[in-house]
Amino acid sequence: MVAGAGMAGLVAAAEARRLKAEAIVYEKLDRPGGSMRLSSGVIWRHRDFTRFRAECPRGDERLQRALFERLDADLHWLEGLGAPVVERTTGNPLTTGVRFDAPGLTKALATAAGRLVTESALPEPPANAPLILATGGFAASRPLLREHVTPEADHVLLRTAPGSTGDGLRLGLAAGAAAGPGLGEVYARAMPAPPARVAPGDFVRLAQLYARHAEITNERGERFRTATWSEIDVAQWMARQPRARAWLRVPRERLDERVRGRTVGAMVEAAAAAGAPVRREPEHVSVGAVAGITTTLGGLRVDEHARAVAGLFACGADAGGIATGGYASGLAAALVFGRIAARAALGEAS
Ligand SMILES: Cc1cc2nc3c(=O)[nH]c(=O)nc-3n(C[C@H](O)[C@H](O)[C@H](O)COP(=O)(O)OP(=O)(O)OC[C@H]3O[C@@H](n4cnc5c(N)ncnc54)[C@H](O)[C@@H]3O)c2cc1C
Repeated sequence: MVAGAGMAGLVAAAEARRLKAEAIVYEKLDRPGGSMRLSSGVIWRHRDFTRFRAECPRGDERLQRALFERLDADLHWLEGLGAPVVERTTGNPLTTGVRFDAPGLTKALATAAGRLVTESALPEPPANAPLILATGGFAASRPLLREHVTPEADHVLLRTAPGSTGDGLRLGLAAGAAAGPGLGEVYARAMPAPPARVAPGDFVRLAQLYARHAEITNERGERFRTATWSEIDVAQWMARQPRARAWLRVPRERLDERVRGRTVGAMVEAAAAAGAPVRREPEHVSVGAVAGITTTLGGLRVDEHARAVAGLFACGADAGGIATGGYASGLAAALVFGRIAARAALGEAS
């Protein structure tokens, strides 16, 4: 049985089917895909393992090694299922990977996964059959974000699919599993602040990805400087500031700089058009931004077979210990450990 029809759950079921077993996937929403369906679809790894370790220093080296070594073959497998490729580059010289069309990826995986029961949270954890938890972490639960991530949880933007409210974590802990390190770590993005309206279909388009070109201050005027290419440090810092807000102040001469195929100026104007607070000065433009919590990075502690306790497996954002201390691709973790979980669960069943 698999709980959750997002990236990790569908991958696990598809892998089980490849091995001639039948998995039933329960999805609590009315359609499959979870955050995968809303994502940019870039499935990536660091080019260099030493750099991966250095950027995610508190992660479990065994899990990181498995991700690093298996991803390329798993991407090949995914393409073989008919997942449509958009481009074979991440646009970042430090990483390698493939960008898929997210709706097409969801469709290919849902077809390969087989039996899917929607609008149904997992009924009762089975007594004697293995269970794979793939419910996508707890980025959609304000109470859990308040408990583990930030006292400003009421103010963050939930830049995530609504189903990921921590069911896997609760089920796992109740079954005797342990929480892994970094339960308070999240992957987040600076997003246009209220009164801007940000619909799920705008989560990618409206991300403000230019902290490296900006002066960043919270509402008290305190400054933060990014030290990472992913800018995850800025968004995590923002999540913990008053009202989870910051101003991104960009010198006008930087508006033509390009980040991931877009100019800084285009991102600023997209935020303005969405209704974000924008201050225009002769030499600068400032955008009011709010932290958009995208996915939690901490979760249940698992071993290299994705096992949390005997008979219970966790993968995707339900499992912690991979990106701990930094940021790594959540889709990649879901792909590699979804397959691993299926193989281990079948081994346990036999
Ligand atoms: C806007 C956006 C852009 C992103 N871009 C990227 C990117 O380019 N690259 C990247 O690597 N990552 C990206 N991510 C993160 C990525 O989408 C996640 O890391 C990934 O989807 C995690 O996979 P998962 O299977 O754990 O969770 P999900 O894909 O979210 O799936 C979890 C599923 O479980 C369901 N569920 C929850 N509780 C239950 C229950 N009790 N019973 C049954 N079902 C349940 C949920 O409804 C959901 O469908 C992005 C995310 C967002 C929101």
